[in-house]
Amino acid sequence: MTRSLPAALAALVCSAALAGCGAASEAAEGTRGPAAAATTPDRSRTPDPSRTPSPAPSRAPAADAARPLAGRTVVVDPGHNPGNFRHPREIGEKVDIGTARKECDTTGTSTNASGGKAAYTEAAFTLDVSHRLKKALEERGAEVVLTHDADRPYGPCIDERARIGNEAAADAVVSVHADGSAVGNRGFHVIVPAEVREGSADTGPIVAPSRTLGERIAAAFARTTGTSPANYLGDGTGLDVRSDLGGLNLSTVPKVFVECGNMRDPKDAALLTSGAWRQKAAQGIADGIVTYLQG
Ligand SMILES: [Zn+2]
Repeated sequence: MTRSLPAALAALVCSAALAGCGAASEAAEGTRGPAAAATTPDRSRTPDPSRTPSPAPSRAPAADAARPLAGRTVVVDPGHNPGNFRHPREIGEKVDIGTARKECDTTGTSTNASGGKAAYTEAAFTLDVSHRLKKALEERGAEVVLTHDADRPYGPCIDERARIGNEAAADAVVSVHADGSAVGNRGFHVIVPAEVREGSADTGPIVAPSRTLGERIAAAFARTTGTSPANYLGDGTGLDVRSDLGGLNLSTVPKVFVECGNMRDPKDAALLTSGAWRQKAAQGIADGIVTYLQG
């Protein structure tokens, strides 16, 4: 996730990655529409003759089963900008993450180039899954904000990524990644914030809801993709708790990172480079968010 590529490889893969990055930009506006407050009771259900108290009103306006996220805001963070490869100096600038100062951003990892096939960068992967995730969430009624859409030369820096979620008052934030670990290390994991209270970081209020969000996503991700939790960390839970990620430390809203698989393992890489599998991955993350937000 945080490993850099050699410059030559970076230059090679970058142009390929950028070829698919011409999508229209998304304004990272943090405003929420007034619709969220306009909850009306759902009167479509059959009256209950026993006159027991009706269930707690749904937090989603109009309680439309097909649009369970209506009135909700989800921020989706494509973990690395494909342009980062060309801006090593800028992304190397240190920013404050509360517990330390850390690089603004990283290039991310990639699959290994092999058999004449170019490497597939984590940046391209995260952007593709994020687009699919955005669509899946919007179909369920959510307002979705992307932290970037490869519509800027590099970044955003990790502190700005956190700020975008905070300013959107997001109900949930998911940062999409893939790992760069040793061959044989396989599977997905979800990174949740540790309790951190230092400098500008205070994760106290988000530790518990973020963990729940992470558990819901891990369960749904395993179900839709058929892949297993990581075999190299998290003791098979698919969850990892970290205190060194600025994107989590500086968040004031529930947030997790999803590491969808290990790009350096050939078997995982075969999945990560499949569009059909990425659709399942996005579906799993969306399903997990729905389950979390429906409480
Ligand atoms: Zn990453």
